[in-house]
Amino acid sequence: MTTGPNDLTDRDRSVVWHPYAPMPATMPVVPVVSAQGASLTLADGRVVVDGMSSWWAAIHGYRHPVLDAAVRDQIADMSHVMFGGLTHGPAVELAELLVEITPDGLQHVFFSDSGSVAVEVAIKMAIQYWAGRGRPDRHRLLTVRSGYHGDTLAAMSVCDPVTGMHQMFSAVLPQQLFGPQPSPVFGAEFDRTHTAALEQLLDEHRDEIAAVILEPIVQGAGGMRFYSPAYLAAVRALCDEHDVLLIADEIATGFGRSGKLFGCEHAGIAPDIMCVGKAMTGGYVSMAATLCTSEVAEGVSKAESGALMHGPTYMGNPLAAAVSLASIRLLLAQPWRAGIGRIEARLVQGLGSARALPNVADIRVLGAIGVVETVEALPMAAMQAVCLEHGVWLRPFGRLVYTMPPYVTTDQEVDRICAALVDTVTRVAPVSA
Ligand SMILES: *Cc1c(COP(=O)(O)O)cnc(C)c1O
Repeated sequence: MTTGPNDLTDRDRSVVWHPYAPMPATMPVVPVVSAQGASLTLADGRVVVDGMSSWWAAIHGYRHPVLDAAVRDQIADMSHVMFGGLTHGPAVELAELLVEITPDGLQHVFFSDSGSVAVEVAIKMAIQYWAGRGRPDRHRLLTVRSGYHGDTLAAMSVCDPVTGMHQMFSAVLPQQLFGPQPSPVFGAEFDRTHTAALEQLLDEHRDEIAAVILEPIVQGAGGMRFYSPAYLAAVRALCDEHDVLLIADEIATGFGRSGKLFGCEHAGIAPDIMCVGKAMTGGYVSMAATLCTSEVAEGVSKAESGALMHGPTYMGNPLAAAVSLASIRLLLAQPWRAGIGRIEARLVQGLGSARALPNVADIRVLGAIGVVETVEALPMAAMQAVCLEHGVWLRPFGRLVYTMPPYVTTDQEVDRICAALVDTVTRVAPVSA
């Protein structure tokens, strides 16, 4: 059997389903043979800078010697054991470290296998907490538009109703409550009118709401928006006033991406429940975690079942825990704030020239995230082709062309990503044209 690049893409097309794609696929896929630092080596020999960090995850880049060693060392001990009734050093140490570095009050850690599952667990925690307090009627969630929380059913029920395709699944999705998208944008002046609609929903539905769930400061896949920390602080205060739990989904924002270790730190708030994932393992394997306060844990454990009703087969996986520990320690041992500040400044500089382009609606940068929002949607395949010409891997969608490069990306590599992004928006004709 041959393994040339064309052969592989043909075989892929006949058997493998890709994210958000039909079968057989209509979009080309690009075979990768290896990765190193911030770059991917493609099967045809090209080396491209990964401007996506493999969807926010590979913060230290690829084949980092410290992370590679952590996985190898752990394999020599054990790759996996069940977590029901057993425990091990990597899981305990990781839980302790997460409690130490996350906002105050988060004391307990539930491990799971992916971000979506961590969100499911957070939702179950909130519902079981209210059951434990004798209020099983409080089982709905209140969220904001333009959010993204994952692809499983309960997680999808709190994604933006339009981009989350609620229409298609309306018969099976729990019906949640939606406030407007958070405002004002990051850096603009907040006043009480910005949370008025959310406050009204809390007033009207307080007897059925278990929790408010949102992404702190950065809304990721639902719109790549950055909003005011004062808005988040106001939501925290409203949750307290209405005795409603606050779930912070830090799966995209966690581990430095927005310039703070966690998005909540921009507002100086602590949620009652918090989800982390994506970058936790440094992009090596899938693992996520849901943290909660002692009050939430006590409430859950008072419920009829007396236990949190969840338990993934690969819960607490030692390989994933060991590489997470190595990744978080590696991050904290370096001047990561300065490193992300460096990328931020370079993105601001590199994307600025797009501002004058007719199809550009907005350019925004926060931490190691750069976004160019266009007026009209651009076709993804044409955009990716232009990026690859520049030796850059990006996956823009619709009106959003964006990058969140690995923290190890050099100035020259950031410049290359920016040049690709600006050229894409310059050259690619809108879908409607
Ligand atoms: C990616 C993401 C998820 C889902 O994580 P998966 O690991 O893909 O299931 C949930 N919430 C946010 C904010 C995310 O960015």
